Amino acid sequence: ENGRLRLPPWLKTSIPTGSNFSKLKDELRKLNLHTVCEEARCPNIGECWGGGEHGTATATIMLLGDTCTRGCRFCSVKTSRAPPPPDPKEPINTATALANWRLDYVVLTSVDRDDLEDGGSSHFAETVVEIKKQNPNMIVECLVPDFAGNLNCVETIVKSNLDVYAHNIETVETLTPFVRDRRAKYRQSLAMLKGAKSFNSELITKSSIMLGLGETDAQVEQTMKDLREAGVDCVTLGQYMQPTKRHLKVVEYVTPAKFKHWEDLGMEMGFLYVASGPLVRSSYKAGEFFIASILK
Ligand code: SF4
Ligand code: SF4
Repeated sequence: ENGRLRLPPWLKTSIPTGSNFSKLKDELRKLNLHTVCEEARCPNIGECWGGGEHGTATATIMLLGDTCTRGCRFCSVKTSRAPPPPDPKEPINTATALANWRLDYVVLTSVDRDDLEDGGSSHFAETVVEIKKQNPNMIVECLVPDFAGNLNCVETIVKSNLDVYAHNIETVETLTPFVRDRRAKYRQSLAMLKGAKSFNSELITKSSIMLGLGETDAQVEQTMKDLREAGVDCVTLGQYMQPTKRHLKVVEYVTPAKFKHWEDLGMEMGFLYVASGPLVRSSYKAGEFFIASILK
């Protein structure tokens, strides 16, 4: 097709199948858990769910429904001004389901809920509290929206006693208005990450950048610097993939060597860990990286 880039060999991966994977899927259905890993048909599922060297299995769970109040130009999630109200039983049901699934590190994430007074922050916090009650050893990361700049929401989440606070900056400053929903602001996202750290200086914070949207190397470097200045501890970098023809086109397929360059630079800049590669998503092997970085 005209103007569309050819998929390079390092991105041609197979979607996990096989009986073991199907069995796990059936079990998850019974537990009524909705993982982003399966629903997004993430190619990393074998690595994440399997755990690596440290045997730390990671999965990502979606809270607060499947309908977003925003519409970012890279994202294929459904949009509505008034999504259905949150399920009040979701925090406890999620914790109970997780107690039956041998998992070490869970990433809780959600769509943006600008329609809710607290952006869904108390729902996240309740879920963390329930998970920790039923699974005291589980490491919990919350990958949260920008809460439209409301620091009270950040505080609510931090006080839930989570282990990792994550919010994705997504792209460099100049591309932000073209890539993210117009309500999302680069400086606001930095302020939210800085805010999380200010409520608990021990808390680990994390962010993620998509590459291949037309950003320059200097802009990527500046974004990494801005994240460090906001006290962000961990960063992940991955390739942007166009979900449908209606979404932003890929401008460039960044090479594995270039991703390695960003990883090296990030480590030099003092990040606790940097996960950088064509298939990396913000939750990629998060448990493995977390354990490795605290054992360092
Ligand atoms: Fe997708 Fe998140 Fe943007 Fe909503 S806010 S459209 S879920 S990236
Ligand atoms: Fe799941 Fe994230 Fe790992 Fe993909 S990268 S399998 S979404 S935890």
